[in-house]
Amino acid sequence: MAGSYSDCAAKVGDKHAAQRPTSVKIRISDKSLSFDYAHFLPDIEKCASIHGHTASLDVEVVGEKTGPGLVVDFGVLKRAAREVISELDHKIIVSKRYIESKKGGSITIRFLGKGGGYRITAPSSQLFIAPFESTIENLAAYIAESILKRLPRNVEYVRVEVSEGVGKYAESIVYREENV
Ligand SMILES: [Zn+2]
Repeated sequence: MAGSYSDCAAKVGDKHAAQRPTSVKIRISDKSLSFDYAHFLPDIEKCASIHGHTASLDVEVVGEKTGPGLVVDFGVLKRAAREVISELDHKIIVSKRYIESKKGGSITIRFLGKGGGYRITAPSSQLFIAPFESTIENLAAYIAESILKRLPRNVEYVRVEVSEGVGKYAESIVYREENV
């Protein structure tokens, strides 16, 4: 099961370097591109209780230059990345498979983790419900895809490297549909 999560990110990166000869790569790396989150991964023993991470991003974008000679304005790129991570920041990131019930503004999640069963009810505003397990690989792919959706059409692909702590990284490359 754990292997399939990693495969998800690996597949995204397989179609490597479809960069056109005239394309240019730009990159942002900024301390403000970080976010804190809590999560749990019941299928992975060490991560099977709720715990937290501080994640940080490096974002690379490849595309044809337009206008005065820009792939995308650094400010636009930074804003897109910040928008995406603000949805995740200080949230409990939960796969939708763990939702037991929804009532009013609250969601109850349930899973079998370290030490036994967990049932947690929290305001829905404090949860980020994802269609995937909250592995760093899946988060990297989600973040790259979400940033790409916010960027102009000349951008061919986005590569995101996410760190979930010292020495732990996941990288995902997501291509714009028509370039695949
Ligand atoms: Zn974790």
